[in-house]
Order: sequence, then structure tokens, then C-alpha cells
Amino acid sequence: MENRESTERQYHLRERAVQLGWPASHVEVIDEDQGRSGSTAAHRTGFQRLVTEVGLGKVGIVLMLEASRLARNNSDWYRLIEICGLTSTLIGDEGAVYSPREPNDRLLLGVKGTLSEAELFTLRTRLYEGRWNKARKGHLQFSLPTGYVHGANGDWELDPDSQVRERLSYLFESFRCHGIARSVVRDLKQQGLDLPTRITSRDGYGSLVWKAASLSAVIRILRNPAYAGVYVFGRWEYTGERRSAKTGKVIPHQLPMAKWPVKIELHHPAYLSWEEYVKNCERLRQNWSREEATGVVREGSALLQGIVYCGICGNKMGVQNHVLREKRSPSYICQASYHNGDADKICQSMTSRPVDAAIAEALLEAVSPLGVEVGFRVLEQLEQDMAAQRRQRELQLEQARYEARLAQRQYDAVDPDNRLVASELERRWNEKLERVNHLEQSYAQAEQEARWNISPQERQAIKELAQNLPSVWAAETTTNKERKRLLRLAIASVQLDGVNKPEQIEVQVQWRSGVLTHFTVNRPAPGDGSLKTPPEAVLKIHEMAGKFSYRDIADHLNVMGYRSAFGRPYTHQHVGYICRRDGLAADRERRQNSE
Ligand SMILES: [Zn+2]
Repeated sequence: MENRESTERQYHLRERAVQLGWPASHVEVIDEDQGRSGSTAAHRTGFQRLVTEVGLGKVGIVLMLEASRLARNNSDWYRLIEICGLTSTLIGDEGAVYSPREPNDRLLLGVKGTLSEAELFTLRTRLYEGRWNKARKGHLQFSLPTGYVHGANGDWELDPDSQVRERLSYLFESFRCHGIARSVVRDLKQQGLDLPTRITSRDGYGSLVWKAASLSAVIRILRNPAYAGVYVFGRWEYTGERRSAKTGKVIPHQLPMAKWPVKIELHHPAYLSWEEYVKNCERLRQNWSREEATGVVREGSALLQGIVYCGICGNKMGVQNHVLREKRSPSYICQASYHNGDADKICQSMTSRPVDAAIAEALLEAVSPLGVEVGFRVLEQLEQDMAAQRRQRELQLEQARYEARLAQRQYDAVDPDNRLVASELERRWNEKLERVNHLEQSYAQAEQEARWNISPQERQAIKELAQNLPSVWAAETTTNKERKRLLRLAIASVQLDGVNKPEQIEVQVQWRSGVLTHFTVNRPAPGDGSLKTPPEAVLKIHEMAGKFSYRDIADHLNVMGYRSAFGRPYTHQHVGYICRRDGLAADRERRQNSE
């Protein structure tokens, strides 16, 4: 009721705006944030839109129910006052109209904001306290997990639908046998058994649907203490920095069992004993950490971890480390659908070494002084293009404004009694004005998007990085963690396809700059050293090192027809890498110093 009332009051504001003298067609009601509980503006699009429009000077007055309800949070509120002041926009509520340019009005608006935030805070605290009091007695009602229903007096009862109860019992039994959640999913799928879900959204509340089993659903059921007859409240903590990018809500994290604030045993009938529940959780945790171990950031392995995607199905690929004594490099592996029981085997996997080496080579090439120079030139070209485009837009706008003035003059000149002509001319004039408006908007937008020129200092920093990167990359003191970080600075994601071509892996690199590059690397045949630089080439490098520059050696190798492990021509970085690796670089420097 409260809500409906405030909705109605909001629409009364429209009338108030008209009373204050604004034409009805110019009044816009912003209500897209209604029902959004976010206490910062970041995810309330309506508020953001309002601030933008005010900032562009397009708004005459902002009307709201109790001034400041709109902003929810003081910094947002002050920002709005500030911007309204700059653009001479008025602020009004049901009682009064304020001009944020007047010091007195500003003060009043500020106080109102503070009061409203305080009110919101006490309200929230009161609600919160009430919930906890009820929860401590086990009386707080929330939507029950599937398998339970509320009885007549509010107690929890087992679901009267025997199929639901039996399916849940089957799931627990299956975990008893297999001990692995993924096997439970496969078992259910093989038997053609779906899992029941009670709908908790308003439409069709409480009705039952059957869904194909998924790993997350099975884990959720296994980890829910309610099935052991225990009433738990506060298992999830909603504090923390991590917020969902989509909704802006805090991502909750689960508290360890010992810290659950409310835990009432034997609260309702159970599907399994508490002891078994605890054992199940422990088992899940062990399985998880075993699988997790394949994803832990480790030294010396898998540079692309976290940014590598499957070129076949698009899923994120994981990293599989092998036992130390196998001395194999880790593999990239796509197994999401296997884990979920949707497929019988993994999608694809490949050893990381050739891919990593080729990516590193591509990175060093892209960030070489030469590559950076080319990048700067592209940027300059873009800047010039943008200046030309801006000139075009300005001319277009100028023309449109001229046409609008012309249309206005024609309208002004016509005899008002000649209604038909006058209304036609007015229509044309409006059209022209709209076009001006439209062009102004796109101009403003283009200006905003064009703000990525880099300063001379930034240029210098990039150049220095480019000079140093190869030696930083190869240095023994550089850890793999740091290499990964460097890689992520330049590369957004990598897609791998090891299926399309036999014995080859197609690599697609998405650079942060937006550029895509493709190349292929050879899959190593088991046990062969095909990934090492060919020994003849290494021999040649050893011969020439200290007498020639890296670049000359690379050129010589290329002329002789040598190719790197990936079938690509040699670069001076590559030669430098081998010299440093084999301790030849120092030799050459010493010689140069003594000369
Ligand atoms: Zn895949």
C-alpha cells in the first residue's frame, strides 16, 4: 500500500510542474528506479540519466517527493545539488521550490539530505533487528527449500508430494554411493530423473516445476543444512566489496559452520542426519579443493590462466597441472560441460607450452619499440581523422542552425490569419529545431568518446616500457605471476581451437586495444623436442654472438632459411632471449666495454 501511495504522489508531481508553468509535454516522470533498493546511484539508471540531463542544461526544474528521497545517499545528493547549481536548475518538492544557486536554499537542501539519510538508516536498523529477533526463535519465515512446505501453523513439513520427497532421497542416496557431486548429476541424467523446484517468484508462487539436474543445483541441495532438519539463519553474509556487475547487489559469501549465528537442531523433519550432512560438506570441500588445485595460480605454469577461452564451445578453459615427476607442462582444458554432465567427454585440451611461448613472442613483438612506434602513428592518424570528423560535424550543425533560423523567419513573416500556411511553417520550423537538437546531442557524445588522446608523459612511459620489456620478461627475477600480470595489461583474452586443424592449434588473441590477431602453432608430438629452437640455429647463434648485434644475427638466420620453433622468422628479441638464456649476452657486453 505504502508503495502504491507513493507512486500516486509521484504522478501528482506532474500536475505540480504544470501548475508551476511548465508545458505538460515537457514534463518527464523518471520512475525506472522504483523498487530498486540500491543505496548508491551506480545501478540506478534513472538517477544517472537525471544527472546527465541536468548537466547538459536541459532541465528547468527537478521535482521530487520529499527532496532528497531521490538521492538515497548523501554524496549523490550533494552531487545533484552541485550540478543543479551550475546549470541554474531549480529543485522542488511538494512544499517548496529551491534554487541551488542561493546560499540559503543550498543549506536547506543539504540539511534535508542529511535528515533523509538518517531516517533511512534508522528504518533499516529497525527492520533488521526485528528480523533477527524472529530468526533467533526459528520463527522468521522465508521461502523454504524444495522438499518442504509451510504447515497450517507455520511449521515446516515435508512436501506432501511423494515424488518430490523420493527424488530428494534418491539424490542423497546417490551421493552416498558415489561421493562426487558430478557423478550424482550423471546418475540422475542417465536415469532420466529431473529435480523438483518450487517457484518462488510471484507468478505461480509455490507451483512445482521439474528441471534437468545441474551441478550447481545438486551442490546447493547437498550443502543446504535445512535437509538435516536444522533451522539456520545468517549462513550468508551480505557484506563485502564484491558486487554483481549486472545488478549492483553485493555478492554474498558463506560463513563457516561454526560462525552461523542462528542454528536450531531438530527444528523440522529431516532427509538426512546432521552427521551425514557435515560429512557430505567435508567431502564436497575435499573434492572441490582437489579440482581447485588445477586452477591455483602456480609459479612456472600456464601464462594464460583466467583469460583463455575454448574456440569450440566458447566456455572458459581451465588449467590442468600434471604431477611434478611427469615433468609435463600444464594443459589448457575445456571441461565445463563435462563437469555439468552435459557431455561424456571433455571438449578439447592442449599442452600450454607452445601456446604460451607463441603468445609471449607475439606480446614482445607488439610491445617492441617498433611496434609501439607503429601504434603511435596509428593513433596520430586516428586523431587527425577525428579532427576532420569534428569539423564535418560542426559544419553540419552550423547548417542545421541556419536552416532553423530561416524556418523561423518564414514562420514569423506569414500572416497569422493564414492558419493553414502558418501551421505548415510551424511544423517545418519544429522539424529543423529537432534536427539541431539531434545533431547537438551526437556532437556532445562524439566529443566525449574522443577523449582518449595520450599525453606526452604517457607516450614516454610507454616507450620506456617497450625498451625494457624484453629484458624484464626474460629476467630470472621476474616471476610467472608478474609475467601473467604484464600479459593481462596488453591482452584481454585468448581463444584456442585445437580441433579444427590436425596437429595444430589455432590461436586468436584479443588485445586490449581492440585488435584481433590470429596465428597457428604446432602441437608438439609426444616426447619430441620440436618446440625447442632447432639446434642448428642455436649453434649459429652461439657462433655469431658477441660478434654481431642481435638484429644482424636474426637477419642472418632468416636469410639462411632458419625458422623458429613456431615456423616464424627470427627477431632480435628471440636471439637476445637465447643469448641471455645461454649466458652469451654478458660476453658481448664485456667485449664492447673493453673496446
Ligand atoms: Zn569447449
